[in-house]
This record gives sequence, structure tokens and C-alpha cells, in this order.
Amino acid sequence: MSDATISSAYSQILEVIGSVEPRIADATRQELADQRSSLKLIASENYASPAVLLTMGSWFSDKYAEGTVGHRFYAGCQNVDTVEAVAAEHARELFGAPYAYVQPHSGIDANLVAYWSILAHKVEGPWLQKFGAKNVNELSEQEWETLRAEFGHQRLLGMSLDAGGHLTHGFRPNISGKMFHQQQYGTDPETGLLDYDALRDKAREFQPLVLVAGYSAYPRRIDFAKMREIADEVGAVLMVDMAHFAGLVAGKVFTGDEDPVPHAHITTTTTHKSLRGPRGGMVLAQEEFAGDVDRGCPMVLGGPLSHMMAAKAVALAEARTDAFRTYAQSVADNAKSLAEGFLSRGATLVTGGTDNHLVLLDVTSFGITGRQAESALLDAGIVTNRNSVPADPNGAWYTSGVRLGTPALTTRGFGHDEFDRVAELIVDVLQNTAPGTTKAGGPSKASYTLEDGVADRVKDASADMLERHPLYPGLDLA
Ligand code: PLP
Repeated sequence: MSDATISSAYSQILEVIGSVEPRIADATRQELADQRSSLKLIASENYASPAVLLTMGSWFSDKYAEGTVGHRFYAGCQNVDTVEAVAAEHARELFGAPYAYVQPHSGIDANLVAYWSILAHKVEGPWLQKFGAKNVNELSEQEWETLRAEFGHQRLLGMSLDAGGHLTHGFRPNISGKMFHQQQYGTDPETGLLDYDALRDKAREFQPLVLVAGYSAYPRRIDFAKMREIADEVGAVLMVDMAHFAGLVAGKVFTGDEDPVPHAHITTTTTHKSLRGPRGGMVLAQEEFAGDVDRGCPMVLGGPLSHMMAAKAVALAEARTDAFRTYAQSVADNAKSLAEGFLSRGATLVTGGTDNHLVLLDVTSFGITGRQAESALLDAGIVTNRNSVPADPNGAWYTSGVRLGTPALTTRGFGHDEFDRVAELIVDVLQNTAPGTTKAGGPSKASYTLEDGVADRVKDASADMLERHPLYPGLDLA
């Protein structure tokens, strides 16, 4: 697609939107300007290609298509069938998965589909057999109550939030923590690394139905062969949530024991983080679970978002290219450059470094909280998110850490030197940030002061790099 074509397409789209609700057209223009002029280091964000973005805005959005390819509850789904089949084919081939389900609307939905598929396979199936019923509708009231109670007795073991796990891995405020009796595994207090022996002991003791591996804020790779060994030993289903690092799996940076797909019974993902697609989710499964995952709708999903499945197909086609492999390797290389940039300037990193796409900076040594650091960095045009560190004294709201990822700026073309400079700029901001006080005059975990002139100095330095690596180069909104 030429620059002129993209510019003209977007200008016309915004004109149409603006003729109905100008504030939305304006906000859309402003969002591009803001993203262009800031250093985006949020580890879960990226910049999808114009082809992916354009695919999302089509009339596929208007079509209902509950069901699966060739087996819909609505008429006229032949084109949705094409879209879903192409997306699933790309996903299977890219990840080497026997089965792919591309309907989940988000990562949380993908995890719900996975959990209920496991419950359907491991609990509902055997109980239906016991009752001599083909499906739940054939059960008597009493049998149904027995089965419902069985669902509530199941156990899940996932990584704790402050060790880098995700809310959907059994955290109580999330539905996963309410569906299952849950326990959590953490990381070694000394090294911050996953302790497989401790995890094995916990699994032996707890005997979970589901062992969840995967993370949102753990800066290291996981040995999925070992995870599967532990799951097998205790008879658990291994579910891997690769939402954060799917791009590194697709790009063949994580291979062998670091590739979850051949080891896990079920692998879930988002499509919009390192995979660089549209917002959405997917579930990959071994044959054994395929039939259950296939019932994501109506199990926990309604009609699929066909326009998003179309955009997933386009993004997955992109992820199959050599260019994407180069990109994925750069994401990991750049994370190392960022980490080294911090370490050489005396900053503290959880686990002492990284070997994936993210770095978890412990800001305690700067005398501020994660919340203060996040706000001061934003003032200087650096977009990050605060994140707890293991055993965080400041809890999950104020935190003591800042999570930084390389997928987005790598898409813009940032390399080793730029990421080293980014580390320098971040350290500059944090060294010049001081904790503020509450209205009552006590120490505050939220308010802060940033030394005069620092924000401008950092913004000027960033502007130079951002100009050299433009976002959507050639996209000129008239
Ligand atoms: N799983 C992991 C590991 C995540 O990091 C996230 C999002 O941050 C999700 C699931 C949920 O994804 P979504 O926001 O698309 O629901």
C-alpha cells in the first residue's frame, strides 16, 4: 500500500466520522499525534500495521455468526466462514498447533474459554457419562446440581500477581479466583526467578486440576517442558497464557522448551501485544481439547467479532514473514539493551535483567513509588505503567516498580543505541523526581515533584529519536 493511498484512506475515514461526531474524529487525530510524539514503553502495547487497522473497520462488524465454520446459528455466514477459516489456518501453521480457535474477543475471554473447556473435558464429560446423559439438558435437577457443585470443587495453581502473573490466573477479584479453589506460586525471594522445585512441591501438595503458566510482568523465559513434567506428575492440565510473548513464539525467538505450544494442553494468547495484531484473543489446543474449545460460543462467548477475526487473519499473515522474525529477534535484543542501559547506570532490575521483551525496574532506590515514577515519566513524554515487584511493600496500586517493554518502539525501528538512550532518559527523570506530601503534610505515595527543566530536556532528546523513527511514516492526515 502506498503512503498516498493510506493517507487518503484515513483522511477520508476521519472526514466521514467527523461529519457525524467531530469530537471522535478529533480525538482519533489527537491520539495519533500523542502516540507519535511519545516514547511508548508499555510492554503490552504495540502499533498494528495499516493493513490490520483498516481491516478492523469493515462491514464484517455488522454480521452475526454464532457457531463455528460451516456450522452457524445464522444464515449468510459464508464470508465469515472464509475469514475465520483463514485466521485459524494461519494460527495453526504459525504456531504448529493442532487446533486454533480465533473467536475470543480479548485475552480474558480466551482464558475463560480455556478454563471452561478444561472443566467441560475433565468434569462435565465424565459426569455426563456417569449419569448416562449426552448433554447437560438431559440431566435431572438433582444431577445438574451435583454437576454444578463438582465445578466448584476444582483447583487451579497459577503464578502470583506480584511475581508477574496475571489477574486471570486465579486472582480473587477476577472470576478465575472465584471459579476455582486457587493457590499461587511465586519466585525465589533472592533471585526473583521461577523456582521449579518449589513449584513442583506446591503442585504435589495442592494437586490442581489446572496448572497455569505465563505472565504479564516476569522478565524471563519459562521452561515449558519442565512445566509439563510437573503438570503430568500431578495429573494437571497445563494451560499456558502466552499473551505477552506470543510475538516471540511466532517469530521463533522462543523455540524448543521455551515454546509453549507443543508442551501445553491449551495455550491462550492475546493478538495485540508482541504479536502486533488487532485487539483480541485466541486459544490453541491439542486435539484432546479441540472439541471443547470449539464450544467457546455459546459456553462463554456470544457472536464472534468477524471484523476482528479478519484483522487477526491479516496480522497472522504478517507474522508468518521473515520480516516478522527479524522484528521479534530485535524485540528481545532491544530489551537486553534497555536492561544493560539501566544496569550500567546503577538502576535495579527484578531478576537482574531480561531475556524476553520486558524489563521490570525497581524504583525503590530512587526513593519514590511506582506511581510517582509513572507520573513523572509521563510528564517527560515517556509512557510506562507502574507494576508491583515481588513482595511489594507498596501494594498493587502504588507499587515499587515500573514495567517497560520493547515491542512498540521496536516496531518504530528503535535499536540498541536508542534503547540505551531511553534508559539514560528514564534514569534522568527518576533521579530528579522527589516524593511529595499529602494535603495533611504527611509523606505521599502519589504526589511528586519533578525538577524544573527535566521534562523539557528529556522531551527534546526523545523528539530527535522519534523523528528519526516515525510512526506510520508517510501517513499524513489532511
Ligand atoms: N493474559 C495476560 C498474561 C495478560 O497480560 C493480559 C492483559 O494484559 C490478559 C491475559 C488479558 O488480555 P485482555 O486485556 O485482552 O483481556
